[in-house]
Amino acid sequence: MPLIDRIYMGEALKEARKALEAGEVPVGAVVVHRRQLIGRAHHQTHALNDPTAHAPMIAITQAANALGSRWLKSATLYATVKPCPMCAGALTLAGVERVVYGAPARASRRRRAVALRGRVLPSECTALLVAYQRRRRQRQQLTMERCRSG
Ligand SMILES: [Zn+2]
Repeated sequence: MPLIDRIYMGEALKEARKALEAGEVPVGAVVVHRRQLIGRAHHQTHALNDPTAHAPMIAITQAANALGSRWLKSATLYATVKPCPMCAGALTLAGVERVVYGAPARASRRRRAVALRGRVLPSECTALLVAYQRRRRQRQQLTMERCRSG
């Protein structure tokens, strides 16, 4: 195992200990970008009254703010526990290159499935997405034309 992974997992463990001290689920995470620690957090769902306040989520937000970008390419997330599906989704959205974790995820309490209902005002909702994509394409074309004309 690379020494660097042990070192950064040690930092994530420090965060997990803070969570334990605070009576939270003891999970910690850090984000490393080009050998720099740009995010570090512990589980804080009780302290923040926020069911999404998992250590990786908070560390990702910190890292994105530190880089001034929502893309965390070439970043590595170290988490003391294997990221849950929500955090894994956020890692994918952020384009994080690599995840290193300590312990496997433990089975969590069974939760009731969310009641899901679709197709309520679908045309209006879809129209906004289409307008957004159109504007985005126009901006890209303008940028390309500016580049071509020097
Ligand atoms: Zn999570």
